[in-house]
Amino acid sequence: MSSFPRRHLLQIEGMERPEIDAVLDLAESYVLLNRTGKTPRDLLRGRTLINLFFEDSTRTRTSFELAGKRLGADVLNMSVSTSSVNKGETLLDTAATLNAMHCDLLVVRHDQSGAPHLLAQKVEASVVNAGDGTHEHPTQALLDALTIRRRRGRVEGLSVAICGDVMHSRVARSNIHLLLTMGARVRVVGPPTLLPAEIERLGVEVFHDMAAGLAGVDVVMMLRLQRERMARGLVPSAREFFRFYGLDQAKLAAAAPDALVMHPGPMNRGVEIASDVADDPIRSVIREQVEMGVAVRMAVLDRLTRAALANA
Ligand code: ASP
Repeated sequence: MSSFPRRHLLQIEGMERPEIDAVLDLAESYVLLNRTGKTPRDLLRGRTLINLFFEDSTRTRTSFELAGKRLGADVLNMSVSTSSVNKGETLLDTAATLNAMHCDLLVVRHDQSGAPHLLAQKVEASVVNAGDGTHEHPTQALLDALTIRRRRGRVEGLSVAICGDVMHSRVARSNIHLLLTMGARVRVVGPPTLLPAEIERLGVEVFHDMAAGLAGVDVVMMLRLQRERMARGLVPSAREFFRFYGLDQAKLAAAAPDALVMHPGPMNRGVEIASDVADDPIRSVIREQVEMGVAVRMAVLDRLTRAALANA
């Protein structure tokens, strides 16, 4: 347990390699248990998990729900439209309400960076960040690493290109931290308007051209063009974006012949990725990412619950 001593999972930044390895190893065992239907349903029996989503989600919310249920937790979904947040309740009032409900695990998604960190200081539950603003999405990076590791046997030494709207992507930020910690080489590829200033300070290589950025890489990670977070004028048009930065077979040809294609979803087909690449049965591991998401979230809930018990 010493390899995962946390009460909360708020970000990848600052996590050490043994901690990440410990989650991935455990998640690996959950992949097999999920496939055989033999999950330990008593692990979280009597525990309550609340999915508190202030922003929309399909994959992340349902996979946390499934992960909690497969381990025997009582799972409740609270979304903005049904909660009193619409009536002006503050985040801290929400925290007090959740404390009164004695929830054990709180999975939070919020459009403000840092909201899960604030809640973590105020609630008694273990908090998992399920995506905060443009900051981090730690379980996405863990599931991406698990997908890569299962396909390639390692993460270390691989070269990974993260492409497109890096500026607004919490997925990109979590992945950059995780991949660099695990010893991969990371490139970011996109138009200057969609790459954060001084991103190379994180230790990544910057490219503005797909052919150069994808040359020889082992993994091509595409990002969604996040129009809802964009000030106007950052990209000329979807068609223009696809022409220069959308992943089609021609651009993918620059990567290693066996390069994996990834996307966190939801995909804008024909904008950042062509349908025949997204659905390519050999190169694309997008469906597998979803499967790994459930296993990784089970591993995280497992670890946090055991750590809370050890500290009780
Ligand atoms: N689902 C991911 C997230 O919540 C990626 C995306 O929305 O583009 O950040």
